[in-house]
Amino acid sequence: MKKYIAILSVFLVFILPITAEASSNLIIKYNGKTISYQGAQLKVTYNGTDVNLDSTPGILQNNTALFSYQDLFIKSGIGATGNYNKSTKTITIELNGKKILMKLGSKTATVNGVKKNMTLAPVQVTYKKANKTKILVPSRFVAENLGLTYSWYSKTGTVAIENTTITPTVSQNDPSEDEWNTITIPKTDSNMNVLESKDDYWNRQYILTLQGDYTAVLNNSNITVEDGTRATVTVQLNALGNTEVIIKTNIIRGFEVQDNSSSIIVTVKPPKDIYPTIVVLDAGHGGNQPGTLGEYYGNELIEKEVTLDLVLKAKNYFDNDSKIKVYYTRLTDTGVSLTDRVKMANEVDADLFLSVHIDASPTNLDAAGTTIYYSSKKDQLASSGLTSSKFAGIVSSHLVEAVGSTDRGINKKSLQVLNQTVMPAVLIETAFISNENDVDILRSEDNRDAIGASIYDAILETIESYPRN
Ligand SMILES: [Zn+2]
Repeated sequence: MKKYIAILSVFLVFILPITAEASSNLIIKYNGKTISYQGAQLKVTYNGTDVNLDSTPGILQNNTALFSYQDLFIKSGIGATGNYNKSTKTITIELNGKKILMKLGSKTATVNGVKKNMTLAPVQVTYKKANKTKILVPSRFVAENLGLTYSWYSKTGTVAIENTTITPTVSQNDPSEDEWNTITIPKTDSNMNVLESKDDYWNRQYILTLQGDYTAVLNNSNITVEDGTRATVTVQLNALGNTEVIIKTNIIRGFEVQDNSSSIIVTVKPPKDIYPTIVVLDAGHGGNQPGTLGEYYGNELIEKEVTLDLVLKAKNYFDNDSKIKVYYTRLTDTGVSLTDRVKMANEVDADLFLSVHIDASPTNLDAAGTTIYYSSKKDQLASSGLTSSKFAGIVSSHLVEAVGSTDRGINKKSLQVLNQTVMPAVLIETAFISNENDVDILRSEDNRDAIGASIYDAILETIESYPRN
């Protein structure tokens, strides 16, 4: 009996369409019929990062890869907008001025009003195990008509979608913002003092907490704002009965507080007028953008969690160095758009930008190691003489050693966070979530700490070699 099972299973491996991905069958309800889907359960990457398919993998019908339009095009980094209208059974998908209309069960679509034929009609599919119903669409048709590049890897059942078009440049700082602003809070009694202050730069605000309830007096009198067009002040009582003075600014600013006998004076300045060195550290992905998922490769790692932890490890080192001001695009599991990451770096006029990512190769599980990228569109040059490529070189020398895997070198790539930041900027692909050896490295707390330290060391060496002038 055992022998018989062994022979049978060998036989099964050969008849399944995709041996590498042969997993348990998917029970789905397709066109109203419940079937056991025997084909490949398809994955998809966008700009090299796995798209989270919400436990509802793509399926292959008549050589057409069908994916949930929501998971693939709207909830992913592709960032299209769209919806499904239940009464008309119409699916709308829009991106960069391209608008696709499709109807459930119809092979005719319109792209910006022009009729086009699809090989397969959109279909509603219920995934029994996941207990989810999704509208699946022909992925190549939609991707190509949205202007995206589409590749199919039959060996691993993976679709790779890339956006090679460049999004418009984020507007630069308004130079008129490079001025100081003063906010004066009069002391209505001698006990009024600052309990704590918080630079909530993510929300472009600074919160001064005064001990006790001063809301009545401060609301009526007379907090003076030198230039009210660039800062507004509100006063509120917090849950502990203390007074919060919230200073909101148009763009990220630095704040200096003087606690005098008659008043508290807050001077609002461009961060560059306060900090000798400014760095923006960017933990890739976050929130509903998990990045690449280890579950596709038999491990528990999730890119957004690893990138955040590495940035937090680096933060431990930066927190002990008052010479360097670091702005973090995120310090929690929150989603931040690529545009907002760029915006932060340009707003604070950072000296350096470094984005942390984890690599994956669905088509080659042997691929391993560390790659440093800078923009293929421009090699940003700072007045110190530092360029993105020189910065990449310093980062590489520290990081490769800390990771201890393969040195994959320094490469150019067209990525929004590298193209649109105006200061020397690099993106690190630390190691591969799809490689067993690299996964062991990434799991280790000691290695993560060493990687965090190497980011700090690289930035320290960079600013010592290229001081701001
Ligand atoms: Zn990534």
